[in-house]
Amino acid sequence: MLIKTAEIICVGTELLMGQTLNTNSQFLAKEMVSLGIASYHQVVVGDNHERLAEQIKESASRADLIILTGGLGPTTDDITMGVAADVAGKELVFDEESFKNITEYFRKMCRNMPKNNRKQAMLPEGCTILKNNNGTAPGAMFEYSCPTDEDPDRVVHFVLLPGPPSEMSLMFTEQVRPLLEKMSDTKFVTKFVHLFGIGESDAADRISDLIDNQTNPTIAPYAMTGECYFRITQRIEKGEEEKDLITPIIDTMRERFGQCIYEVGDRPLKQVAYDLLLEKGKTVCFAESCTAGMVSSEFVDIPGASQVFMGSVVTYGNKVKSNLLGVSTDVLDNLGAVSRECAQEMAEGARKLLGTDIAVSITGIAGPTGESAAKPVGLVYLAISDENGTEVKEVHLSGNRMRVRRVAVLHAFNMIRMRLS
Ligand code: AMP
Ligand code: MG
Repeated sequence: MLIKTAEIICVGTELLMGQTLNTNSQFLAKEMVSLGIASYHQVVVGDNHERLAEQIKESASRADLIILTGGLGPTTDDITMGVAADVAGKELVFDEESFKNITEYFRKMCRNMPKNNRKQAMLPEGCTILKNNNGTAPGAMFEYSCPTDEDPDRVVHFVLLPGPPSEMSLMFTEQVRPLLEKMSDTKFVTKFVHLFGIGESDAADRISDLIDNQTNPTIAPYAMTGECYFRITQRIEKGEEEKDLITPIIDTMRERFGQCIYEVGDRPLKQVAYDLLLEKGKTVCFAESCTAGMVSSEFVDIPGASQVFMGSVVTYGNKVKSNLLGVSTDVLDNLGAVSRECAQEMAEGARKLLGTDIAVSITGIAGPTGESAAKPVGLVYLAISDENGTEVKEVHLSGNRMRVRRVAVLHAFNMIRMRLS
């Protein structure tokens, strides 16, 4: 069935009271425009069972698609999933896979999972589950049979997304938008341009002329941990000539962003690094201090990693750095483990020890403790060593311990990309 009209319902008393600016509505409204779906109403409802149910019924009486955001959290005021399922006459059932994802999220964040988070794995029977790659609450998509006299087969589509804007926008872009594109009578061609080494707002600023003048294609920036990307979508109406309007925009982006663009397509940074290693026939190993194995673990997510990845050493303590990798005590005593020189000696030592073509090392201060005036939390040194020599990079990363380590991992992959491309 084609989707022609949509209604956005944002749920949360904090929105009604003006404590939180309703940016989700703005984001989704723009997405509807670029999808060619008309939206005639936008609503904000507080965390109240009756008023939300009443609103969902009213919206469902006139729109083909209802998008709800917020109220998918674990606490008692998070009621959206239950109320929407109730209106659609669906039971909430426990989803094992979603529960596993939530548990894994807490493990990665080094936090204990509170009991009430189990509630977030209760989802409407038979729904399409939307995985949350940026937080705990999964979203859901399902149909609600809502017959009218003129159309006894009328079906309304429900999409439920989490409230936090970064979770909502990623889930929408990655999982909902592709489905909606298929349900519209307009054809869409979308390309993604992935960047590393530049922030979302800086990136958007550099092509503000393109963004401000966009009609077709539409260009939208998105932020992810440590990186950002642009979605470029061209609309082609039925019967219209298919002319490529996307390539000239990508060409302009290449001129303005240069090496910051690591991918036009779908490959994550580690895949780009892997593909380059494979193409050039090079092997790699890692010497990890503050990431303590994260780089290696992430890298072996790639099927076939063994073709280029030989192994790694986690050298967390100074003694292990010197005993295993031959980092000199002079460097460790006088300059410290978080230093250019240490990163360099770690990479060179690992390359020798593991006998690979390339070695990448990472040493830094993940925080929240351990900083000094000269070495703040977030200071990370990375080195890459191969037959042509060793190059060291100093980066300053923001955020908590987990974020610093995650972004350091990306820098390690980026070092490989830069060296081989
Ligand atoms: P919830 O999913 O309702 O628990 O919302 C979690 C958080 O997401 C809220 O505390 C807000 O900070 C944010 N949030 C929820 N809805 C919106 C919205 N429509 N626009 C912007 N931020 C929102
Ligand atoms: Mg809420």
